[in-house]
Amino acid sequence: MSLPPLKRVLLKLSGEVLMGDQQFGIDPTFVAELAKEVKAAKDTGLEICLVIGGGNIFRGMAGAAQGMDRAQADYMGMLATVMNALAMQNALEQLGVQTRVQSAIQMDQVCEPVIRRRAERHLEKGRVVIFAAGVGAPYFTTDSGAALRAAEMRCDALLKGTSVGGVYDSDPKRNPAATRFDTVTYDKVLADNLKVMDASAVALCRDNQIPIVVFSIREKGNLARVLAGEGVQTIVQDN
Ligand code: UDP
Repeated sequence: MSLPPLKRVLLKLSGEVLMGDQQFGIDPTFVAELAKEVKAAKDTGLEICLVIGGGNIFRGMAGAAQGMDRAQADYMGMLATVMNALAMQNALEQLGVQTRVQSAIQMDQVCEPVIRRRAERHLEKGRVVIFAAGVGAPYFTTDSGAALRAAEMRCDALLKGTSVGGVYDSDPKRNPAATRFDTVTYDKVLADNLKVMDASAVALCRDNQIPIVVFSIREKGNLARVLAGEGVQTIVQDN
């Protein structure tokens, strides 16, 4: 199994990678490093859509576990993703990369609403489009938002940059003997409940035949290596 030629990709970054070595929030120095990786990928001619999670600031499930109303907590989580999107926009523009943020929750003073055709034009003009606020509804995650935007923007792959090097048969942070898959099918991910993305996101990618590439974004230069088909990664797709 290998990837098709990539012209347009959706890069999903979990919120926690924006923390750098902190325990919470946004580390601007680390965001600047991430932005350099994104710029290097863009400079190869790729069209890039970005989705950033909010887990470094607030997760709805965590709020609900502490007694909050789940939907209310999820809206707070969605707002957290907008803050991360603005932080990444700032870092990219400091490197001279043109960007637009489109949010699924309308916030006219800070960003555009999600408008697919407008996003297409931005990509044609060489801008990076950062999609914020997930799907804009509670009980979802930014993984589902990423799969949805990858499908509607007809991306050739969904690249999931996370803090581990791919998909493992068990949690590599807890089990040192965990084994990484080079490739794995969507159906195995779903049947074995492997920790890649939530099930609705994986199913949406499967139904639209969008390969998912899981890799560690914490190592410098890794995004470029993964795009070149090198480096440590797991590709989720059908045989
Ligand atoms: N969220 C939501 N709907 C969405 C996307 C996100 O309700 O479509 C909320 C949800 O509470 C989630 C939080 O936003 O926990 C942050 O997103 P996520 O957990 O996906 O961030 P990540 O784990 O990627 O950092």
